[in-house]
Amino acid sequence: MEKEKVNNSRDLYIGIGSNLRNPILQLNKAIKFLSQLDKLNDIKSSSFYESPPMGPSDQNNYINTAVMFKSSESPEDILKLLKEIESSMGRKKSKDKWSERIIDLDIILYGDIVHWTDKLTIPHIYAHERAFVLLPILDINPDVFIPMKGFAKNLVKSCLYKEIKKLKNNERSNV
Ligand code: ADP
Ligand code: MG
Repeated sequence: MEKEKVNNSRDLYIGIGSNLRNPILQLNKAIKFLSQLDKLNDIKSSSFYESPPMGPSDQNNYINTAVMFKSSESPEDILKLLKEIESSMGRKKSKDKWSERIIDLDIILYGDIVHWTDKLTIPHIYAHERAFVLLPILDINPDVFIPMKGFAKNLVKSCLYKEIKKLKNNERSNV
């Protein structure tokens, strides 16, 4: 049984973002929660990146990162786990798509899975066009491939959104 699980395991890339209440602290907290889950194994993580908000500009800059795990859970169950962490960290529901948030956990990629329902799109619908998603996943795997879109290293070249700063380790506590 254990063997079957290992054979079914895929690379799960999770994008993490925050622009409220010490985003760096929130990102570290989310990574800790994720790495404590039995269903996610062998974590790899990326640098942190700072970028201006995409939506209304009267909000703080965002800090984004990504983590990769091995998992064999269903995509729906993973989304459920991510939403549980978001709400336990105080994420409020907002009707506004671009509104500020204490934590955002998105499934970016899950191996070669293509999943297209009302509630869940994998690969993430905008992953291929956002530098703050592509740069972190490239840190983890320079050859990462986005199903239906292409290699992230090629996609990032034509990203419209380039105003992004990689944080050095010693800056991670100052934002
Ligand atoms: P966004 O991340 O787009 O700013 P939310 O975090 O509020 O917005 O998520 C809104 C909904 O998007 C979630 O309730 C979830 O059902 C849906 N969703 C669709 N695809 C994904 C994905 N790949 N990862 C996370 N949520 C997703
Ligand atoms: Mg989200």
